Amino acid sequence: MKSEKELTLESVMDLIRKRDPHQEEFRQAASEVLQWVIPFAKSTDKYNSYALFERLTEAERIIQFRVPWVTDDGISMTNRGYRVQFNSALGPYKGGLRFHPDVNLSILKFLAFEQTFKNSLTGLPLGGGKGGADFNPKGRSNSEIMGFCQSFMTELHRHIGPATDIPAGDIGVGSAEIGYMFGQYKRLSNTFNGVLTGKGNSFGGSLLRPEATGFGLLYFVEEMINTAGDQTKDMTVLISGSGNVAQHSCMKAIEMGMKVLTMSDSDGYIYVKGGITEEQLESVMELKNEKKGRISECTDLFDCEYHEGTPWSVEATLALPCATQNELNEKDAKRLVDNGLKYLAEGANMPCTDKAAAYLIENGIRFVPGKAANAGGVSVSGLEMTQNAMRIKWDADRVDKELRNIMHQIHEQCTTYGQDGENINYEKGAAIAGFITVADAMIAQGGV
Ligand code: NDP
Repeated sequence: MKSEKELTLESVMDLIRKRDPHQEEFRQAASEVLQWVIPFAKSTDKYNSYALFERLTEAERIIQFRVPWVTDDGISMTNRGYRVQFNSALGPYKGGLRFHPDVNLSILKFLAFEQTFKNSLTGLPLGGGKGGADFNPKGRSNSEIMGFCQSFMTELHRHIGPATDIPAGDIGVGSAEIGYMFGQYKRLSNTFNGVLTGKGNSFGGSLLRPEATGFGLLYFVEEMINTAGDQTKDMTVLISGSGNVAQHSCMKAIEMGMKVLTMSDSDGYIYVKGGITEEQLESVMELKNEKKGRISECTDLFDCEYHEGTPWSVEATLALPCATQNELNEKDAKRLVDNGLKYLAEGANMPCTDKAAAYLIENGIRFVPGKAANAGGVSVSGLEMTQNAMRIKWDADRVDKELRNIMHQIHEQCTTYGQDGENINYEKGAAIAGFITVADAMIAQGGV
């Protein structure tokens, strides 16, 4: 693709800043990918094009809409809903929906941009998208959540479809919310199809979808640790978050013989000296999923310490941030390294600030970005789409085998493009491998 301007990291970052000066999270996500991809692109004839990056960093389509709903007390409320359809070079847009009061266009654009590269790494035919609303489900009744989901889908249904855009869950959107949205889509479109993933087991959901992100994260981590000549048994682990990704990461880590010392929520963290046991994890899951409780309440359930803040001052070999974006900063990274950290893999999307990630890489920590480490969720979503299209259901063993295989392939790609002397730069490897597939498809389709 010919272009008027010379391709440099500065020229593309300038463009991003000029287009949307206030979108800090999007700028951060773009810079984390482009810092590795642009030097690589410049070393080739095929990808050395400013025009290619001008398009790659601009969403194909953004839909913003009003979501009116009514509380149980009859009060009228209005939220803002979005769907960012970022890149469809590899397939229909695919990515989750987030319901959280912090949701804004910058956050959804960063997530959709990341998703484009993540989906590329899975090897499945999926484009990148993301959506959601600034709705806070915390403290809302079931009927209020259902009403909100139905109103949200009343607008969104016009813009999605099994061959166009297939949303899934994310923060604040679990299987209950997906069920309500699926029901509303079905009524409005008069079709029963795989338009959403993460559906209930009885109406098209894939086995192991709830577990997939956490399990996939640990499959990747196991490969990384083995590649480094280390072993998982008795390794100490810090997990942040106590939602879907954190819970299933903890479950698989315990199964692998690791010692998970912490879990958290947005208020504080629990510390279990000898490592969280299976029974203790079950209590955490019941507390968070059924009782909608706070992690601090664990002190009433089993022997643990509770502290306010984040868990990054605890000594451990592996850290798995699984809560939210920018939850681990440079100061935290320094403390972790001083305390003997060797590995960090992002279960959440962009939980490390750009300075934290750079510090970890510079200090020889094996750092895996979310687009590689947490790709297990979207992978099983892709497998759910396959099962829906074929109108069959695979057993859990089949899904688990496919998931393991996809995580292995992603690890291979990171190793191929990220080898850095004795070390592996997973951030560089994931960015370049993800980019090549998307760029090839865009160029072959006339740059669109
Ligand atoms: P959940 O809603 O199930 O859990 C989110 C967890 O993060 C909760 O423990 C929550 O605590 C905590 N949290 C939220 N906001 C903050 C904050 N500002 N500071 C500290 N903790 C916070 O979400 P998921 O587990 O599904 O998602 C977690 C992360 O993983 C997100 O970044 C998501 O994009 C990413 N991800 C999820 C996938 C999936 O399949 N679910 C797939 C790939 C990535 P609290 O209860 O206090 O809010």
